[in-house]
Amino acid sequence: MEEKTYLLKNTKDTLSLGKRIAKGLEPGAVIALTGPLGAGKTTLAQAIARGLCVTERMASPTFTIVQEYRSGRLPLFHFDVYRVSDPDELFEIGFDEYLHAGGVCLVEWADLIEDVMPEGTVWIRLEYGEAEDERVCTVKC
Ligand code: ADP
Ligand code: MG
Repeated sequence: MEEKTYLLKNTKDTLSLGKRIAKGLEPGAVIALTGPLGAGKTTLAQAIARGLCVTERMASPTFTIVQEYRSGRLPLFHFDVYRVSDPDELFEIGFDEYLHAGGVCLVEWADLIEDVMPEGTVWIRLEYGEAEDERVCTVKC
């Protein structure tokens, strides 16, 4: 396993990291986004979407669990599993089908469903840094 740490001094840094990550994504990629509330998981997800050239306005997947975007270089499936209390809920939305749909799956709060995350998942953790807009991002793949 390879691990890299990035110091993100502001949201601009987070945006450029997301765009850089997006460039290397291939069909079937699964990215787990973890870290506390407000750490920047959604911000990084939006940056990755921009890097994939998604033109649709992004909505929050908090209540729907998943939002789909088809306008980019690859289909993008953005999940927020914070409210998932039972693995059956994932089954119902077709989580497994999304994983195998040839797109990119971004899963916020994936640590809550670690058992069902596939092998080969890229784990990205965001933490608060020392300054207000600073974040520390660890990428494991
Ligand atoms: P999460 O999805 O982890 O709860 P969000 O991305 O919704 O977090 O919110 C992160 C908040 O922190 C946003 O208001 C964003 O503007 C702010 N922020 C400040 N600095 C950064 C940074 N370096 N990277 C990402 N977000 C940042
Ligand atoms: Mg979020």
